[in-house]
Amino acid sequence: MGRIGDNYSRIRAELPPAVEMVVAAKSRSAGEVAEAIAAGARIIGENYVREAEDIRRRLAPELLNGVAFHMIGHLQRNKVNKALAAFDTIQSIDSLRLARAVNKRMDGASPVPVLVQVNVAGEESKYGIKPGELHGFLECMASLNNIKVNGLMGMEPYCRDPEDARVYFRKMRELFRSASTSPIQGVEMRTLSMGMSHSHAVAVEEGANMVRIGTAIFGPRKY
Ligand SMILES: *Cc1c(COP(=O)(O)O)cnc(C)c1O
Repeated sequence: MGRIGDNYSRIRAELPPAVEMVVAAKSRSAGEVAEAIAAGARIIGENYVREAEDIRRRLAPELLNGVAFHMIGHLQRNKVNKALAAFDTIQSIDSLRLARAVNKRMDGASPVPVLVQVNVAGEESKYGIKPGELHGFLECMASLNNIKVNGLMGMEPYCRDPEDARVYFRKMRELFRSASTSPIQGVEMRTLSMGMSHSHAVAVEEGANMVRIGTAIFGPRKY
């Protein structure tokens, strides 16, 4: 196995078995993504619809068998149709307008699984629902029958020392827990997606059951 496969396998072995790993593949080539899949990766995260389409087009259907694509970047409403064709799950539902747009474009065959993106630190530069608005937001999801909320996705502020991010992961877990206790139609808190290359260990300690790893698998991005 090459370097990418080795990195994937090492991180996978370090994670508890119940924690799912999303391979964050933004700006990586189809060949690089194929190496991760060959090593066992089963969820590919992309930030752009175009990149997911490209990977799907370039890789053999046999290789993609059993591999899910998750949208983890900001989704523009005019890209919703294409996103629904390219992705199995949208992790980045970050506004009511987007949720409604996704709901409207689904034909109602079976609801599309989504996560609600939380702007856990209330950063101006980030998308997502503010913690204080999450409960009301989830209540609005009850009327959107074509989407199924399966949990939350959070992106912590950049902290050089991942220990400093612990407070945000803890906040996410608290939001996840409190959302689990008040049942809302079409909302189920199963997945808590948080933690990236240098912060995933702390995120898992604080309750993440899905982490999103890019750099630690592929190496530094080239842009
Ligand atoms: C790029 C990205 C990641 C992975 O970040 P790394 O530091 O490269 O592991 C995780 N989540 C989202 C939403 C991303 O855009």
